[in-house]
Amino acid sequence: MKKIIGLCLVMSVLFLTSCGYSKNGEKNTQPKVMEASTEKTYPVSLVNNKKDPTCGMPVTAGISDTAHYEKYVIGFCASGCKEEFLKNPKANIAAAELKK
Ligand SMILES: [Zn+2]
Repeated sequence: MKKIIGLCLVMSVLFLTSCGYSKNGEKNTQPKVMEASTEKTYPVSLVNNKKDPTCGMPVTAGISDTAHYEKYVIGFCASGCKEEFLKNPKANIAAAELKK
């Protein structure tokens, strides 16, 4: 009896995963194109910081917003992080790990 239940679980898991994969495969092409057109991204070479000063995420993970601070361009993973930074840039700039 246990074997049958186990088999059913394996079958349903396989079914669910294979189903999920095919859905993802179909979806992957469309939403990615749409994301690219709606969500702005910036090249890492454009910004002077190594890390998002608000959340500490490396800018290589993706920059969706930037702000100017003194002579620097600071990249952020999200506009929310930029807003946080701009509330008190002097206190947060050290965490940005500016490049020279
Ligand atoms: Zn962030």
